[in-house]
Amino acid sequence: MKIIRNYISGELRSAESGAWIDSVNPATGEIYSQLPDSDQTDIHLAVAAAKAAFPEWSSLQAEARSNFLLKIADAIEDNLESLAVAESIDNGKPLTAARTLEIPRAAKSFRFFATAILHESSEAHSAGNEMLNYTLRQPIGVVGSISPWNLPLYLLSWKIAPALAAGNCVVAKPSELTPMTAYMLAQLCIDAGLPGGVLNIIQGTGIKAGAPLVEHSDVKAITFTGGTKTGATIARTTASTFKKTSLELGGKNPTIIFADCDYEKALSTSIRAAFANQGEICLCGSRIYIEESIFDRFSADFAKNTKALVVGDPLDDSTDLGALISNDHLEKVLHHVQIAREEGGSVLCGGDRISVEGRCAGGYFMRPTVITNLPTQCTTNQEEIFGPVVTLNPFKTESEVVKYANATKYGLSASVWTSDVHCAHRLAAVLEAGVVWINCWMERDLRTPFGGVKHSGVGREGGWEALRFFTETKNVCLAIS
Ligand code: NAD
Repeated sequence: MKIIRNYISGELRSAESGAWIDSVNPATGEIYSQLPDSDQTDIHLAVAAAKAAFPEWSSLQAEARSNFLLKIADAIEDNLESLAVAESIDNGKPLTAARTLEIPRAAKSFRFFATAILHESSEAHSAGNEMLNYTLRQPIGVVGSISPWNLPLYLLSWKIAPALAAGNCVVAKPSELTPMTAYMLAQLCIDAGLPGGVLNIIQGTGIKAGAPLVEHSDVKAITFTGGTKTGATIARTTASTFKKTSLELGGKNPTIIFADCDYEKALSTSIRAAFANQGEICLCGSRIYIEESIFDRFSADFAKNTKALVVGDPLDDSTDLGALISNDHLEKVLHHVQIAREEGGSVLCGGDRISVEGRCAGGYFMRPTVITNLPTQCTTNQEEIFGPVVTLNPFKTESEVVKYANATKYGLSASVWTSDVHCAHRLAAVLEAGVVWINCWMERDLRTPFGGVKHSGVGREGGWEALRFFTETKNVCLAIS
């Protein structure tokens, strides 16, 4: 049994209550680790540690903070393989994805923000020889970071790297379903000599550990990535206490395929966009709109290539889809397929649980599922399923597909496939989404703003947007004469 601990004031500690939560390997269904079942007492200790560390950390020169973060980036890279294996075991995702994309990206986030702060400057506004205004961007204080289970270290680092780089101290609460790589990061931070209290990681549930972090009066900002419902709960709390809040929430993203697209590229990328990480990425394209003239051919090829995807042991390099995060989540996704059937949908492939032989016999696996024949307004096309389930839908005209694409409460991302550059730009302007990919998917340049509209979130992180969120802006006006 592996034991995970909190990271408070530079030390690894159990929850003060001594309570533990079992953590399950989704690929086997077996309990393999225990994490602290932290509560408000642990949150209080962590916030106090962060508050005590803030004066010194925030007054360090940018270069000194940068050096600490670069050491953490190096440590992640040096431990890439063990972090990738841990992420795969904790989450059920294919090891290849953790090894080639997610863990390297966590290191990149630290490196990116460590160097960004060396190039930061702020504005000055001169009014002749009478007044000079300049802008100070100062760290906020203690920042609370709450992150989900689907891309654990990737999303944790996306939040804490800019917060620390900007001079804040952080209390982070990773998902209780995937605590392992956050714990390993704590050990790497100790080895890198990060001063105690600058980063604190509290493990535990949303209710017992997440909520007290959001409510704590010494926490001045909350950065949250997770479900829309949880985001609404957090927003209610932070609104009444006027905390700076960034919310990155759910999605129901359209992939729009015009007949003049690069067919093979659109086909292979839309399949990847549908089923990467078992469909458990907020940016997955789960509603696919295909121009009517190629609908039959594209649907047949989509289903054929989906059937060829390998569902299996996440540690096996040939696996395309690993296990879903939990039995409850698998049941929820299967229930959505049942709803789709009741709504009149035709299941072209998948739709069922799958048993993987050998050590993964008890795991939570499901076949990738493709459904057609559903109207835009049905539950299947409206609700985020967050699993390996997509719908294929025909459209006739550009204006019609824009209406379909925008007809959900979400607005995170969209992908457009066409060789007509004018059409691509017209759609990019009118699609209700925080990110529009044209002839690609999930290209994520760290300099670009990231976030959603409507129920997909409030605020932007990434690049300068993140450094702005994690600082308070002050205008200083100086009379010259
Ligand atoms: P979730 O909302 O259930 O949990 C997210 C985090 O919030 C966890 O750490 C959880 O413990 C914590 N939490 C739960 N209730 C809380 C409360 N009342 N107060 C404080 N913290 C609380 O989400 P999840 O199931 O872990 O993740 C899946 C969701 O995340 C999906 O909806 C997905 O679209 C979304 N997501 C969004 C993005 C994005 O960038 N927009 C990225 C990844 C995932």
